[in-house]
Amino acid sequence: MIPNAPASEPGSPVCSAKGCRAAAVWVLAWNNPKIHTPERRKTWLACEEHREHLSQFLGVRGFLKDVVPWHEWESAE
Ligand SMILES: [Zn+2]
Repeated sequence: MIPNAPASEPGSPVCSAKGCRAAAVWVLAWNNPKIHTPERRKTWLACEEHREHLSQFLGVRGFLKDVVPWHEWESAE
């Protein structure tokens, strides 16, 4: 263990929800067709608790493309 290691170090992703410091376990891939080309993917990270909240936020806007477990996303890149 390294004391005072930053929470955002590679390998320990943190949830993108505002104020949440929980470890992320999901990747939400999204695209805003008004500002992004169709193949572009923005990503948000989500913990178990915020996956649904963040998915709905993107889903109602028609932005959400994919929800993938973080370890699968990492190994796919
Ligand atoms: Zn969270």
